Amino acid sequence: MENKRLYSPSQVREVLDRHGFTFSKGLGQNFLIDGNIVRKIVKSADITKDDYVIEIGPGMGTLTEELALNAKKVIAIEIDERLRPVLAETLEPYDNVDVVYGDVLKLPLKEIIEDKCEGQSVKVVANLPYYVTTPIIGRLIEEDLPLQSISVMVQKEVADRMVAKPHTKDYGSLTLFVGFYTEPQIMMKVPKTVFMPQPKIDSSVIKLNVRKELPDTNRDSYFKLVRAAFSKRRKTLINALSTYGLLADKEAIREALKRAGIEESVRGEDLEMDDYVRLARELPNL
Ligand code: SAM
Repeated sequence: MENKRLYSPSQVREVLDRHGFTFSKGLGQNFLIDGNIVRKIVKSADITKDDYVIEIGPGMGTLTEELALNAKKVIAIEIDERLRPVLAETLEPYDNVDVVYGDVLKLPLKEIIEDKCEGQSVKVVANLPYYVTTPIIGRLIEEDLPLQSISVMVQKEVADRMVAKPHTKDYGSLTLFVGFYTEPQIMMKVPKTVFMPQPKIDSSVIKLNVRKELPDTNRDSYFKLVRAAFSKRRKTLINALSTYGLLADKEAIREALKRAGIEESVRGEDLEMDDYVRLARELPNL
């Protein structure tokens, strides 16, 4: 089977040309053409024969194939119907792969998982289309789906923002959004040369380990605070919150900061996630 694997550029070209397939830039179609990277992605996602995996955007099935060889079952969600005949050919040897055609942002994911994964929690693995990375990750983590982890290839800059530390330019609402629901870890950097066609940007694989328990706070207030704090990131938190119109009464903010043990002069980018969690608890009615 090894000589039929989809890694090499000439093999990829041959299959796609035979089906008259042309890449769609609008759908973020940059396919992997490097077997080492494909294997490393699956390894770093820690996929075993007990695992149900959801793959978003199988493309021509390169990563799907490696997942099928390592997982119990793979559910691959692809928006581009033109890939139907390609995937029918490339995934033909694997009886543990289901391809669902549709937009991952619109499909009923909860029902799909209930239907196809025998009540088990699943791992997501994907080389995500760049144009919808954050909406897809947002949907996956906010919707209370039974997920263990999300291992995805994203634009390097986006991965850097997800794992950023306070006091840095990358630290912001994306860091605190992702950090609320998951524990993120960059698994590897990936050069643009391993894709066809080559994108202009480098990528990283990031693994988001989904928290079993969310931080104990008022979720609504937490996200309002974070949004307000970073809408005016150069201002002190008190000024940012009052300018944003979240709390006109500076005295009330001062009191809440004091109760949360946070200094009055701080700016949003100085606070750790735990500080926002505590502060949101003190301001439950924002
Ligand atoms: N997994 C393949 C690989 O690594 O070679 C292809 C990755 S390519 C970066 C992204 C894939 O996602 C494409 O196949 C594209 O058609 C698909 N896609 C784009 N938008 C999508 C959406 N909203 N829902 C599902 N799939 C989508």
